[in-house]
Amino acid sequence: MRAGHPWVYRSDLNGAPALPRGGVVRVLDECDNFLGSALASSSSQIALRMLASESLADAQLPHMVAERVRTAIAYRQRLGIPEQSNAYRVVFSEADRLPGLVIDRYNDVLAFQVLTQAMDRKELRDAVLSTLQTEFQPAGIVERVEPRIRELEELPAISGALVYGEKAETLIAMNGEGDHPALRFHYSASAGQKTGAFLDQRENYVAAARHARDNALDVFCYQGGFALHLARVCANVTGVDSSRRALEAAESNFELNRRHLVPPEIDWIEANAFDLLRDWSDAGRKFATIVLDPPAFAKNRRALPTALRGYKELNLRALKMIEAGGVLVTCSCSHHVNQEDFLQMLSEAAIDAHRRIRLLEVRGQSQDHPVIAGIPETAYLKCVIGYVE
Ligand code: SAH
Repeated sequence: MRAGHPWVYRSDLNGAPALPRGGVVRVLDECDNFLGSALASSSSQIALRMLASESLADAQLPHMVAERVRTAIAYRQRLGIPEQSNAYRVVFSEADRLPGLVIDRYNDVLAFQVLTQAMDRKELRDAVLSTLQTEFQPAGIVERVEPRIRELEELPAISGALVYGEKAETLIAMNGEGDHPALRFHYSASAGQKTGAFLDQRENYVAAARHARDNALDVFCYQGGFALHLARVCANVTGVDSSRRALEAAESNFELNRRHLVPPEIDWIEANAFDLLRDWSDAGRKFATIVLDPPAFAKNRRALPTALRGYKELNLRALKMIEAGGVLVTCSCSHHVNQEDFLQMLSEAAIDAHRRIRLLEVRGQSQDHPVIAGIPETAYLKCVIGYVE
């Protein structure tokens, strides 16, 4: 806490105090020195999330939350993010001093998610929603729900829904650059036809395309985020994902942009990436550019060794398939795998593949997902771009 970390675990509390559901509490150290005010959860293992160094009353919360949402919006404006993209993360929980609140903007539709008892309180939800309406005049605001988190927080089960306005789907546009007009993607929060975007990779799409060339493979392509950016500069692009619905969305995103892209078609392949990479690397297939962006393999600390073996297997296969002088873009979104572990894994894969990698760029998440010094959990995405000799 003294180093600025905002979490206090239940097991670290003295005397198991009963905590108010989502209320503000004064936090004292073992000598009764006042440490600050926190939001409490009566059920989560993370019992307290620090909010301020001063004493706060419950009644001050809605005003403070609204103020911090405005600060978060102003920060993105200061970075020039809205000029790069009309889809970005507006509020990133602890990183914006709004623990338990995530808000994304998708053009004229906003999506928010509450992850704690405190942020689910009616006064706080109202404060957030009215601030968003004033600041963005959105056509719709949708609530996104992670049932498991609501269960852990002992919040009533609800389903995602439109909570304001009429629009739950739209088109987003990002990364217009020089000769390249912005790329457009479908966004829909409507049940049954959900589409979306990994906004944390947005700046990495541009970085990947900066180094990509010729014949490119996007593994774990989802709805085509990397693949479409690669198709600005590469003659051939292949996207691989195990989800047919993701590939259908990727193809319709390609349709939206095709007249600005190099290849007349993108090959979308429905496959298990592990099997496909093994078969293709055994068969000697080559690519000039390969992107690996798998889902998080390490969901907790214990899963780390298994996760690293999974990453190594993928990276080893990809390295074998990259032409000399080609480019590997390799990502991990598990925050349990830190940058050091990830680079170590990559160097071991390179040794086994008998390749040498020059690190062109060692990157993280887009700037609308701020990383806070002292809160390692806020840095979760790794994206390493290597020149493969
Ligand atoms: N690169 C994407 C995000 C990838 S998310 C982007 O920037 O938008 C991870 C993707 O991996 C999901 O689309 C999921 O369907 C896919 N996936 C998960 N396990 C897989 C497997 N074993 N083989 C292929 N794809 C898989």
